[in-house]
Amino acid sequence: VDWRRHLHHFPELGCEVPKTAAFISSVLKDLGVAVKENVGGLGVVGLLEGSSPGKTVALRADIDAVSVPEETGVPYASKHPGVMHACGHDGHTAMLLGVAYILREMLDQIPGSIKLIFQPAEEGPGGARPMIADGVLENPKVDVIFGLHIGGLWDIPSGYIGVKKGPMMAGANRFVVNIHGKAGHAAMPHRTVDSICIASHVVSALQTIVSRNVNPLEPAVISIGSLRAGTGFNIVAENAEIKGTMRYFKEEVGQENRNRILRIASGIAESLGGNATVEFLPGYPPLINDDSVTAFFQRVVENLFGKDRVIEIIEPSLGADDMAYFLKEVPGTYFALGSVGKTEGVAYSHHHPKFNIDEDVLWMGSAALAAAAFEWLKENS
Ligand SMILES: [Zn+2]
Ligand SMILES: [Zn+2]
Repeated sequence: VDWRRHLHHFPELGCEVPKTAAFISSVLKDLGVAVKENVGGLGVVGLLEGSSPGKTVALRADIDAVSVPEETGVPYASKHPGVMHACGHDGHTAMLLGVAYILREMLDQIPGSIKLIFQPAEEGPGGARPMIADGVLENPKVDVIFGLHIGGLWDIPSGYIGVKKGPMMAGANRFVVNIHGKAGHAAMPHRTVDSICIASHVVSALQTIVSRNVNPLEPAVISIGSLRAGTGFNIVAENAEIKGTMRYFKEEVGQENRNRILRIASGIAESLGGNATVEFLPGYPPLINDDSVTAFFQRVVENLFGKDRVIEIIEPSLGADDMAYFLKEVPGTYFALGSVGKTEGVAYSHHHPKFNIDEDVLWMGSAALAAAAFEWLKENS
């Protein structure tokens, strides 16, 4: 709880997390854990080596905050204006430090190694990919990975663990469609190409992708969040810009939807005398849990906390998390720890200025991660 409150006091954004990284390193070093700093940017990696050789388990925590001005009124509220740990990553970081605290005294019973991955920039632009590119999953090579999210995601109540096989969170892509027409006087439309007219048709036609092309049993979302064009009452707009997001759980659905957005935008623009370009901004892939690792994890936490404390999540979240990149490389599972804090008696959602977590259950996250690593190495080394 002290670690969490310290981190909450000094939240940092994206890749720029120097104070957070320095704090993590110093706690790990005080606990006698070998530390590697500056992994894929300001990522920090702790390595706990067991007394006999074996496989390697990775445990991942994201460590970044959100650009939200804090309004909780707690004594340990953010000291950094406009930045707040409003997603609970301060709790993730503290819980993973807790794992180091627990396991460092059990190394004589552990075959293999445990890698503690402290990852920046989950809220964007993404810190998992640079850490993987910098070799975080090598030396020693990681065989399995676990991670968690706290708060109120998946509607898990405080003190309960949520597990799910298969798709857990969506793949997400942002896109920009730029439509080019020909400006002119609105009274003489025949001498113009009206980009607003084209954009309207494109927005309507994009609705047909999910309703007409995607298998109705397969979740997918395409939402337009912004449409900007034009300057006056009587001027035909030369350019229009559409911004949107798409979400999906299967890579082939994402790819097909990207193709269709491109074809619809350029086909409609061309048929109406203009042209369109589409840009897809890098997003996170779908987060897919490994079935057998998830079953193993469920068994571990049921033994630890009791069967009634573990909930099988039915519906995945359409939110996204770059834990997905680690799970693409190695099998593993991402789970939920219900940790619903209140401000003035109300439980606020993630990213809200009054969001808070329930500190009374932080020990459960440390215990679940430590037990998963310990039991997995004993069973598989
Ligand atoms: Zn978040
Ligand atoms: Zn988060």
